[in-house]
Amino acid sequence: MAEMTDAGAGRPTGPRLPSLRMVVLAATGQDLRRCSHCSFCSDALKETAGLDLGLEMVLQLAVINDEEVLTSRTLWSDRALDAARHACTSGLDIGAVLLALRDEARQRGLTEEVK
Ligand code: SF4
Repeated sequence: MAEMTDAGAGRPTGPRLPSLRMVVLAATGQDLRRCSHCSFCSDALKETAGLDLGLEMVLQLAVINDEEVLTSRTLWSDRALDAARHACTSGLDIGAVLLALRDEARQRGLTEEVK
């Protein structure tokens, strides 16, 4: 049987990874679809110098399963992590979400250092 490859890239594909939304749900119980897109969490992150994404965008990239979020500077920023705690109007624990995404990034061999 022919080995499956990424379209056009010629790389062998491994086992299908779970979506980032499901990873977060399994690790934290937080369903990212509860986000009401109010932007409060992004506004709570006052100092954005050196960061590439607002907190709301971090969550939305996870919802659409965009692996780019796993190497974003915002995900790995302790300043963003501090701002994320208790910052959600919909009751999401964004700090727990960020930590779950960091853990998933490490498992996939991705960190901010590889950017
Ligand atoms: S504060 Fe909560 S509901 Fe509002 S955008 Fe951020 S994650 Fe979504």
